[in-house]
Amino acid sequence: MKNASTHLSARLATALLALGLSAAGPCNARAPELRLYVLDCGHATFKDMGGFSDTGEYDGKPGEIAAPCFLVRHPKGDLLWDAGLGDHYNYPKEGSDAAPGVHVTVPVTLIAQLQSLNLTPKSINFIAFSHLHWDHTGNANEFADSVWIMNKLELAAALTLPPPGGVLPETWSAYKTAKTETIEGDYDVFGDGRVMILRAPGHTPGHQVLKLKLQKSGTVILSGDLYHLRTNRLFKRVPVYNTDRADTLASMSRIETIIKNTRGRLIVQHDPRDFQALPKPPAYLETADRAARSAGFPGAAQAAGLPRLIGMINYAARHDLPEILAIYNEVIRNSTAVYTDVELTAERGEAWYDAKIASGFPLMVARDASGITGFGSFGEFRAWPCYRHSVEHSVHVRADCRGLGIGRSLVAELMNRAAAMQKHVMIAGIDADNAASIKLHQSLGFINVGHFHEVGFKFGRWLDLVFLQCRLPATNQSTTVKQTP
Ligand SMILES: [Zn+2]
Repeated sequence: MKNASTHLSARLATALLALGLSAAGPCNARAPELRLYVLDCGHATFKDMGGFSDTGEYDGKPGEIAAPCFLVRHPKGDLLWDAGLGDHYNYPKEGSDAAPGVHVTVPVTLIAQLQSLNLTPKSINFIAFSHLHWDHTGNANEFADSVWIMNKLELAAALTLPPPGGVLPETWSAYKTAKTETIEGDYDVFGDGRVMILRAPGHTPGHQVLKLKLQKSGTVILSGDLYHLRTNRLFKRVPVYNTDRADTLASMSRIETIIKNTRGRLIVQHDPRDFQALPKPPAYLETADRAARSAGFPGAAQAAGLPRLIGMINYAARHDLPEILAIYNEVIRNSTAVYTDVELTAERGEAWYDAKIASGFPLMVARDASGITGFGSFGEFRAWPCYRHSVEHSVHVRADCRGLGIGRSLVAELMNRAAAMQKHVMIAGIDADNAASIKLHQSLGFINVGHFHEVGFKFGRWLDLVFLQCRLPATNQSTTVKQTP
């Protein structure tokens, strides 16, 4: 915490002067609001993903990770968060092996992506790293003119000899001559609480995440390597090579609580699906929302060819109800996914929403520039006290958005929320003909536990219902029932 109290404006002015810029007028006009640009800084495929969990789930299985860099544009300056695999991997195009069984590709250089935004490394005011592993420092030396925000513990650990596994000191050697800012804990980069580096040790001794407060998207946290994959987040899996397992779990707990308290969104930096779901330059987080808003109708951003933000999941608001009901009623009308043929009126929808809020169960929506693309919730499995640790969920995706992974993201989000509520088992009741939904649930760890024959009747035929269940990650909840006075 020591340096967080440093007087920011003075420090920033010094930094800008050191860069030969006046605080009033860098040549590149500053964005008026906070923007997050996601840059493609490479991809890596692994013959064996075993290292990504010390409990064996990935042993012998191949897989892929993304290695993005993030450009945060704040009215007071630009910050590069992580520096990727390194532009030298851009050639040859088919990539090369960074280590036995690890093949990396960098389809487009970081420098070219900055250029596309009329930026150069020299114009980036600050650089900071989630940690100093090679896949986060590849291009770091390009930023010798930036102020390097360095975590003291991370630096000390990375400087030990021989270098720890995953650390290539030559990729970040420019820190020796660059202007540096040493931090020891949480750190407010621009002094207004909108760009915060948060300590999250465990993967490495000084590992940290980046918390952003965006005007429209709300709180967004860039995970660093707190998690490498969405499934690691879901099941709290700890990589083999983390320096401290207990610290990792404590960091996960802290960051998840912040996500919950701020109703925020966590971006798992290395997860290819999280990377894919984010807008790419020239778009940035909130471009699509803003375009849609200013044009005054929901489809505007799509019409303008802006990317769909399929990963944006948050709590539903009351004003979302018309869109939610439209999705739900289309499902009732045209499918056997819901065992009713009575559509929900606006009035009944309001009552349903109120009951959800009163019960404390989450109602989540996925949205992109076109509006709400899906929703999901869970509630009691059966309304008897001793079923209190079990919940049954339902998820529905808008007709034109199916097959994009939105349903899966929603179910995964609900699993996280249920685990956070100390629920033990999650249950899905799915029409036996809905193979896609059954497969989706199985891919998230659900197993088939029951098949009821001809328990429903819709569209003139009998319907079979399949039950699947998933045990959620262990919680520290006592299983004994306590009598309350
Ligand atoms: Zn990494």
